[in-house]
Amino acid sequence: MLTIKALNKTYANGVQALKDVHLQIPTGLYGLLGPNGAGKSSLMRTIATLQEPDSGSIHFDGMDVLQDKEGLRRQLGYLPQDFGVYPKVSAEDLLNHFAVLKGLTQRAERKEMVDGLLQQTNLWEARKRKLGTFSGGMRQRFGIAQALLGAPRLVIVDEPTAGLDPDERNRFLNLLAEIGEQVVVMLSTHIVEDVTDLCPRMAMIVKGEVLLQGEPQAAIELLRDKVWRKRISKAALPEYQQRFNVLSSRLVAGQPQINVHCESQPDEGFVQVEPDLEDVYFLKIRASQSSAAASL
Ligand code: ADP
Repeated sequence: MLTIKALNKTYANGVQALKDVHLQIPTGLYGLLGPNGAGKSSLMRTIATLQEPDSGSIHFDGMDVLQDKEGLRRQLGYLPQDFGVYPKVSAEDLLNHFAVLKGLTQRAERKEMVDGLLQQTNLWEARKRKLGTFSGGMRQRFGIAQALLGAPRLVIVDEPTAGLDPDERNRFLNLLAEIGEQVVVMLSTHIVEDVTDLCPRMAMIVKGEVLLQGEPQAAIELLRDKVWRKRISKAALPEYQQRFNVLSSRLVAGQPQINVHCESQPDEGFVQVEPDLEDVYFLKIRASQSSAAASL
């Protein structure tokens, strides 16, 4: 269990990236969902002991992370957002090299771990290929393989699905869910679907603040009977946006289809729909924007 209490961080330029963040993160795949600039990387880098918070505490299974950074690093697997690889080296050779750096000095033990990880990440067939020839999805799976060297008990992956096609994304998320059966896996993303299906628990973070945490399904349940949908003309969209709490608008066959949050039918022509996590996400983002506007 990873426990974060009252974490704050303001950068030298005055940006408050983390505002009194409290989180309880159990074993399993944990989704940290938020738009770009929300503070996800700041939080993950802080947990990974790559930067210091201004205040607050982080404990991992009783260990005080901010006091015992080396202790945490021994248990940590980290895939940063901008994970670069050497394009001319094969997957097998680079993973072996990382394994040496991780302190796996016993040759046989190292080979067993490297081979096992290449298999687990479905890169065994491609192990002799140069990393420069890998697709985005393969590179990310290689990134996970290196993060898992040394059997970490805490795995942090920062926006790993950005830029992957749907097939590769699914494969990658399934791999993370599998790993999450044993250890804490923290995944940050701005893609709602990454969290909906596979994360038993999650948090939404916007402008450094945790707006919601818990089970995705419980958050969705709060919106039951309160999400209404209508197809409208493009010209009518501004009026609807003014009159109603429009959560989202998407073009269906060239015509806007809006989801509105309302206790009862907002207007004629609206039909009630099953809420989903995207509705929750947009509602939270809208609420945080209007509370920011109200405090101006
Ligand atoms: P996310 O990962 O959710 O996109 P970040 O943690 O990268 O968010 O950024 C949160 C906010 O902090 C943003 O406004 C970003 O511009 C700012 N920020 C991030 N890193 C730094 C830094 N090293 N110095 C100054 N501002 C930063």
